[in-house]
Amino acid sequence: MNIGVHVAVGDGYEQAVSYAKHLGCTAIQIFSSNPRTYRVSAINEPAQRSFAELRKAAGIKRCVIHTPYLINLASEEERISQGSQRLIAHDLATAAVGGIDYVNTHLGSYGKRDRKEGFTAIVRALSAVLESIRPGVTLVLENSAGAGALAGGTLDELAQFLKAVDHPQLGICLDTAHAWAAGYDLHSDPKAFIDEAADKLGLDRVVMFHFNDTQIPLGGNKDRHWHIGEGNIGREAFAYLLHRADLKHKTAILETPGDEADDARNMATLRELR
Ligand SMILES: [Zn+2]
Ligand SMILES: [Zn+2]
Repeated sequence: MNIGVHVAVGDGYEQAVSYAKHLGCTAIQIFSSNPRTYRVSAINEPAQRSFAELRKAAGIKRCVIHTPYLINLASEEERISQGSQRLIAHDLATAAVGGIDYVNTHLGSYGKRDRKEGFTAIVRALSAVLESIRPGVTLVLENSAGAGALAGGTLDELAQFLKAVDHPQLGICLDTAHAWAAGYDLHSDPKAFIDEAADKLGLDRVVMFHFNDTQIPLGGNKDRHWHIGEGNIGREAFAYLLHRADLKHKTAILETPGDEADDARNMATLRELR
């Protein structure tokens, strides 16, 4: 597996890549812009090309853009659903310029909307943004913690999105903390979870993981990340994912809290388990 961390790029790409390299990452995840606004700025092509060069020189093989948190493709409000599509399209275009493999996005919340109607709205939005996707980039849907009306909390629902949108450049990211929060018992039986994902999604579609432990109870529907092996999911589950042969070529990103010392400890834990 190519393993890495989510890195802030506020101090520039050079800083971000050297941070990831220092931690021994072969993958990296970033936000391409301020994750809390609908505004998009022009793509800085030379900066993206130099970011790609820096990654290559540092041995970072996989790169992910995480779209902004505001995204809600299920919203009834035109301003929000259109703004969300614009943000995803912008990140897909940035990824194409910078040789970035994956654009990982949340789907949003159905809110008070009828789930069927919201599902159709999401499918329509995903199909629209995929119309202009360039070769080499995959749009990746992240499973949610399943709280309340959040879309994409189950493998079944993710499978329905894959089927309804039916596009070869659409993939899935499985966040371990979100899966646990949605009721998948990765602690007792990580094999059952991956087998179910293989059955319902197909593992060729599961291009990446977010490796996060969590302290919330199973099925607690809360999105809280914790250090690897120090939460309820536990070391064995991550060891299983790292060893499973059909996941060998996948990418895994840590979104664990804390500072550099915590990132170093979590990366060291994963290396040790591998
Ligand atoms: Zn996420
Ligand atoms: Zn995540």
